[in-house]
Amino acid sequence: MFSHQRTPKQQQARRNLRHPTRQEEIDEKLMRQALKEPDARTLTPGVLIQLQRTIGNQAVSQLIKTKTQASVIQRNPVKDRLLHFVQDQQSGQVINTLAQHILSVINALEGGQWATAYNLLYDRAIAKIAGHKINIKALYIDDTNKTQKEINSEVDRAISKGMYFSGRLDLPEVAILPNNDFNNAITPDTDATLAKQVLPVVLEEWIHMFQHQIQGYLSRATYDFEQTPEVQKNQMLPEGQGRWNMNEVDIYAIYRDLGWASVLTAFKARYKERQRFEVFKIVTRTRQENAQRGLVIGRNRH
Ligand SMILES: [Zn+2]
Repeated sequence: MFSHQRTPKQQQARRNLRHPTRQEEIDEKLMRQALKEPDARTLTPGVLIQLQRTIGNQAVSQLIKTKTQASVIQRNPVKDRLLHFVQDQQSGQVINTLAQHILSVINALEGGQWATAYNLLYDRAIAKIAGHKINIKALYIDDTNKTQKEINSEVDRAISKGMYFSGRLDLPEVAILPNNDFNNAITPDTDATLAKQVLPVVLEEWIHMFQHQIQGYLSRATYDFEQTPEVQKNQMLPEGQGRWNMNEVDIYAIYRDLGWASVLTAFKARYKERQRFEVFKIVTRTRQENAQRGLVIGRNRH
């Protein structure tokens, strides 16, 4: 039997052969983009009409529903960037693993899971994957006859031993011994106050290792700050002669992006460049706010 009628399979094959029109290409691109980016801002009325044409009404309603849910959960830029590195195959396995590790530490710290964060931060096996040794710098603080202020300054001294080297992480280990009693030692894996003082510094050294692996920064704000004339001029100085360390700025910018308000004050005090960065952020925000206000006033006049 021979029929001029094409089978559905043949019809499909013919459709596949037909070259897509320019409009179809644009529609396809828009759809792919909208499906990929869970950003509600991409769903302008124009995009919605395009999508209704390409993927249909029902699919569009479904899409809006998922997008609304996604935008309700505030996406954090630092976590987004880390997630990118977790999944990015081009970055390679070391970077994938380190990104996941740092993300897990951040989540544990934010959840107050000090023991989990602690175990991750001193994990020699993960450091080894990235070709680094962990070198513990232990300091036990006898609290006998000491004020809280004195104890704090000893904790500060202990955590200043934290340092990143190529191939090695010097990590502080701090314990406070009530009346010099080891059996009742207060440690960052169980004590919230000590955890908040010590663990962000230990994480800092892991992030330095990561910065070197990616040859870049984790916070967008560090790149923005780097473009300012103030930093451009500063970076011309010879190393060790007042040249700011942008990796140290980035640590501050990351914790700022994460909203870790309580650790920022201590972190800012440690480097002049972080103080300049904070000024830059405040000035930028004020400018943005003024610009927005200007726009509203302008509109009201007309
Ligand atoms: Zn540092």
